Amino acid sequence: MIEKLSKVLRIEEWRLKSAIDRGIIQINEKPFRHIIFRRDISHIEEGTVVNVENYETIRGYPKIRRAFYLKPVIYKHFKDKIAVEEKLNGYNVRIYLYKNKIYAITRGGFICPYTTHKIRKYNEKLIKFLSDFDDIVLCCEVIGKKNPYVSYEYPEAKDFGFFVFDLRKKFTNEPINVMERYKILEEYELNSVRLFGIFNKQEAYENILKIVKVLDEEHREGVVLKDPFMRVEPVKYTTTNANIDCIRKGFEFPFDMAMSYFFNRVICEAFKCFELNLNENEIENIAKRLGLSILKPFVECIKKVYENNYISEKFILEFENESIYKETIEFLRRQGLSILVEKDEDNIVINKIYSSS
Ligand code: ATP
Ligand code: MG
Repeated sequence: MIEKLSKVLRIEEWRLKSAIDRGIIQINEKPFRHIIFRRDISHIEEGTVVNVENYETIRGYPKIRRAFYLKPVIYKHFKDKIAVEEKLNGYNVRIYLYKNKIYAITRGGFICPYTTHKIRKYNEKLIKFLSDFDDIVLCCEVIGKKNPYVSYEYPEAKDFGFFVFDLRKKFTNEPINVMERYKILEEYELNSVRLFGIFNKQEAYENILKIVKVLDEEHREGVVLKDPFMRVEPVKYTTTNANIDCIRKGFEFPFDMAMSYFFNRVICEAFKCFELNLNENEIENIAKRLGLSILKPFVECIKKVYENNYISEKFILEFENESIYKETIEFLRRQGLSILVEKDEDNIVINKIYSSS
């Protein structure tokens, strides 16, 4: 296996061996024999999966850098035109077809049984698409309330839905052009994230500000700016409401979040106040919301730990049968998550325990 992997991935054998010994490459037997990169190794990204039955390689989804100060990013980073897409607030899933079965792979490279089963409801379209384009991996955001990762209700997907934002080549991770992607996905009747437009650099700034303002009012996350030919890396830009909501959520379990998680969002708001030239009143208004989103959930957290000795986050899940339920709980526990399960009438509620908090 190592010799073949070394050839396919262009990484020396000794590096692969050492990564396996140190658990940086994880080997799994189910549902098919595959390996997962738990960290970057040379040019191969964290979250990369190699099916070691046929050596197909599903590369990790690249990080998207955040714009704090929008105008210079538009003028310096991008070439001529900018495609503005909605950034949905859910979790990243790569959809992969093997032996006529669909698998949902999370950001970290895990084949998630819950998402896999949910997504198989769309089997017909997905299998058709992925067999016609057998060198492509579908990258999408799964959104809605019922999942074990990011619970956020959207009008277009209350409980569960997925929207494609990227089509990438197996092995190389090379993306398909923006317009081509929208065209192909429409032909196959697969949902895409919204495309607000493709703007010339000169008209992009004003348009993006308008789009972000509306998204903010609708409590939606923000935008991802992309070169239409994907010649430069995409950049994300988030709304004030999303930044504040994230901070509030993070302070429900303050000691389980990285400090950079909070700080990045504060930086974003500070630059926004400056860039939009907000007046004293407007800044005070944001400052008040920001302060409340830090202190209130934090105090609430202390109170809960004082009363119950622990703090947890609830996720409502929906299972078709007992076996998917068992598989999911086992899968989540194997990830090292500490979970308490409750049942209400139709749903299963899992409590993820945040042990540091
Ligand atoms: P990172 O910043 O390292 O990518 P993260 O999960 O913290 O990781 P986010 O802030 O959520 O990142 O931003 C990147 C993620 O946004 C992508 O991995 C993808 O799941 C999601 N996303 C939602 N909509 C889009 C879109 N239109 N284009 C690209 N990614 C999108
Ligand atoms: Mg996200």
